[in-house]
Amino acid sequence: MQRKQQQKELPTSQNIMAIILQSIPKEANITKIEYEGPRIALYTKTPRYLIENNETISNLVNVIKKRIVVRTDESIRKPEDEARRILVECVPKEASLQGTIFDTATGEVSIEAKRPWLLQRDAKEFNHADITEKIGWRLRIRKATTIPSRTIQTINATLKQSSSERSKQLKQVGDDIFRPRLSQRTEVSLYTLGGFGQVGRSSMLLSTPESKILIDCGINPGARSPMDAFPRLDSLDLTLDDLDAIVIGHAHLDHTGFLPTLCKYGYKGPIYCTEPTLPMMNLIQLDAIKVATAQGRTPIYSERDVKQIMKQTITLPYGTVTDISPDIKLVFANAGHILGSALCHFHIGNGNHNFVYSGDIKFGKSILFEAASWNFPRVETLLIESTYGLKEDIQPTRQEVESAFINAVNNTLADDGKVLIPIPAVGRAQEIMMVIDHYMKSGEMVEAPVFTEGMISEASAIHESYPEYLARELKQKILETDDNPFDSEYFTNIEHTDAREEPLRENSPCIILATSGMLEGGPVLEYFKNIAPDKKNKVLFVSYQVNGTMGRRVLDGSKQVPMLGKEGKIEIVTINCSVERLDGFSGHSDYNQLMSFVQKLRPKLRRVLVNHGERKKSENLAMNIRRMYRVPAHYPQIQEAIKLF
Ligand SMILES: [Zn+2]
Repeated sequence: MQRKQQQKELPTSQNIMAIILQSIPKEANITKIEYEGPRIALYTKTPRYLIENNETISNLVNVIKKRIVVRTDESIRKPEDEARRILVECVPKEASLQGTIFDTATGEVSIEAKRPWLLQRDAKEFNHADITEKIGWRLRIRKATTIPSRTIQTINATLKQSSSERSKQLKQVGDDIFRPRLSQRTEVSLYTLGGFGQVGRSSMLLSTPESKILIDCGINPGARSPMDAFPRLDSLDLTLDDLDAIVIGHAHLDHTGFLPTLCKYGYKGPIYCTEPTLPMMNLIQLDAIKVATAQGRTPIYSERDVKQIMKQTITLPYGTVTDISPDIKLVFANAGHILGSALCHFHIGNGNHNFVYSGDIKFGKSILFEAASWNFPRVETLLIESTYGLKEDIQPTRQEVESAFINAVNNTLADDGKVLIPIPAVGRAQEIMMVIDHYMKSGEMVEAPVFTEGMISEASAIHESYPEYLARELKQKILETDDNPFDSEYFTNIEHTDAREEPLRENSPCIILATSGMLEGGPVLEYFKNIAPDKKNKVLFVSYQVNGTMGRRVLDGSKQVPMLGKEGKIEIVTINCSVERLDGFSGHSDYNQLMSFVQKLRPKLRRVLVNHGERKKSENLAMNIRRMYRVPAHYPQIQEAIKLF
């Protein structure tokens, strides 16, 4: 009886296969239909047909409401060497081919070119169907970056090594997602595990009688005791095998820092995030191992656990509806916060409930990113961050902060001084680089060399690798023109300490961007020691300085600070240079932006939950949402169970 009901509601996996076989013409030559994680892969010996008639696939997707990918049958794939030779011949010289990466698990070859726009599907001299037929691999066109990203290279190598293991896993994940539903009850609960009433260790469990989804898995970098530092997974009656999936909104440690530990303790299931989030979180997680070791702490996971994440991750683009369990569909949407950051939209049951988790959002445009997306077909419950949840948490507009930045830099450069910008490597550094390039090219900022040191160039390479995730204008510049700001002639990366002579040479004005952002370790310290004593120079802070950090002491006006010198001796550094702070480059929404985001989402909202903020900030935001928009709003604490439906 139950079974019959189920067939009426949703196609079962068997009749999905039957529908596919019935709807695809014989000419498509389908040899195999298989689950590939949340997608259904159709294998064919004559890929040309489906490439040239792609409406066949889109029609089918409309009927079965599942994601479909077309793969080439293994028997027609030419050996890599031969396929590579053919590609070198076929790619027009002007496109400047830089490399090819073959993924045996999917039968796709990524073609990296300096001018990818010459290789797009509609390019005259590069016919995708012809070439796919010749080599037997599907083509994926990628932008070759100015400097190759080591992180992405490691991911590619790891995926290649583990391709047969990964194919098996993907099939298993597919079988689990498309299993028949055991329960027809629809109930949705949210268990708060971390990041409620606080910033740090963001994590929660979305639970239905059918599935358990862990959303984010962060650490609280400031906390000492494990009870305060990690998500309270121990408070649930749950083993790692009970989880259907882990969904990661963005790469910051307070959202991903505990993930390697879960893999270390045996989590084997899928991890969903956007494509750039994978290298971004790898980079940040590996850096955390280095920082812990340098500070004499034992890291909570090893490099091997970070590699394991690569093998279990399934990346999804923005805007694609994907089944992640029998009763939950996930869509990622741009959150505007850092590269690849996503709002997570969960569609539960047969449309019974729609839950949106904002993660960290920027509801305002920057040079790097568009403002967070707000256009969801349905949302009943919104969970929103409240980093700047107080009424007085108002930031200057982009225009104001950019012109203040131009003035601050111009004044110092005009005096032959140097501007030192202590900066976090990921996100803020790229934003500032884009601002500098933009205004130097437009003539509004004095032209001068810009030096970067630390993890910045690696993080920039990852940004440049995923132009699809950047703001429209920037994406267009990178993908369609030779005016790529990441390749700007103003920028020089300092690879070795010997090369510091150039930025530090006397009477040569320049801008230096170095990590860390709060003067707590990293190459910025060496520059600071040189730059601080001279009154011509300037230290310019563009990110928040936490209480107790060296950055905060300098900002608060200390004239002398002790620093670790050569051979471990303490040196006293005298600060004569000017010190300035600029707010407004934040990747978080200010109070007004949070409120207008909630307003945009109305009137379908039935409830708002507030997290990711100090308690009083979450409380204030919830209160004002209630007052202004007449929507019930709460700010749960950690270890609460909330019934959503
Ligand atoms: Zn964040």
